[in-house]
Amino acid sequence: MDAFPLHRSGSGSEISRRRLLHRAGMAGLAVAAVNACSTEPVAAAASPPSSSVVLCRKAWGAASARPGGTPHTLNRMAVHHTEVLLGNNANAPARLRQHQRYHQESQGWIDIAYHLSVDRNGNIYQLRDPNLVGDTATNYDPTGHFLVVCEGDFDQEGVTAAQLDGAALAFAWAAQQFGIPTDTLAGHRDESPETTCPGASLYAHVTSGDLRSRVDAISAEGPVDLPTICGPEADAIVADIEAGIR
Ligand SMILES: [Zn+2]
Repeated sequence: MDAFPLHRSGSGSEISRRRLLHRAGMAGLAVAAVNACSTEPVAAAASPPSSSVVLCRKAWGAASARPGGTPHTLNRMAVHHTEVLLGNNANAPARLRQHQRYHQESQGWIDIAYHLSVDRNGNIYQLRDPNLVGDTATNYDPTGHFLVVCEGDFDQEGVTAAQLDGAALAFAWAAQQFGIPTDTLAGHRDESPETTCPGASLYAHVTSGDLRSRVDAISAEGPVDLPTICGPEADAIVADIEAGIR
């Protein structure tokens, strides 16, 4: 019905596989190349880039959060996907604006549903205030959950090492910042069997323990430095992302 279904139920893996094959057949090598990521071995947990930052809401063009929201104490962490095929990573900031608009205007939520977002190149974006409960279109209560969303539809496209490392850094930061045990890290579908979120290729890194290993490897290095930046520096990074060079 709309372009931003937000983890609606009913899209099983068989359907996704058929859709994928259909798209691959239609688009040929371009899609095959994108999906090659899902079958390539992904590098073992690596140190995050020292320059990692969170790009503030203003930098990606967020609308203001609406008043309200429910405060909570964070004690769990969950990974999601947006269930919208990303295509070119240069689309990522615009996608966030679209997701937020859909969540606020169509879903009637106070803000974009999640707390941090990570694009395919590992860029991290500030979303909803983590001190406020997130939202979900499925039947589960995200109270207490720190929500990281990976941009893309991982039932249709592969997840990159950079995106996994970006998500791991976001979770490692949250674990230290809010005292959340990393063994609580789960995929959305673990909480709500009606969804395939966070999508097959990303969920594989949850069930294998790889994503948590990456989080723990970062945490073991000491305090996680992940400042949120705003202003000209952040604007320049978003401009580079939208130009396809970061
Ligand atoms: Zn989800």
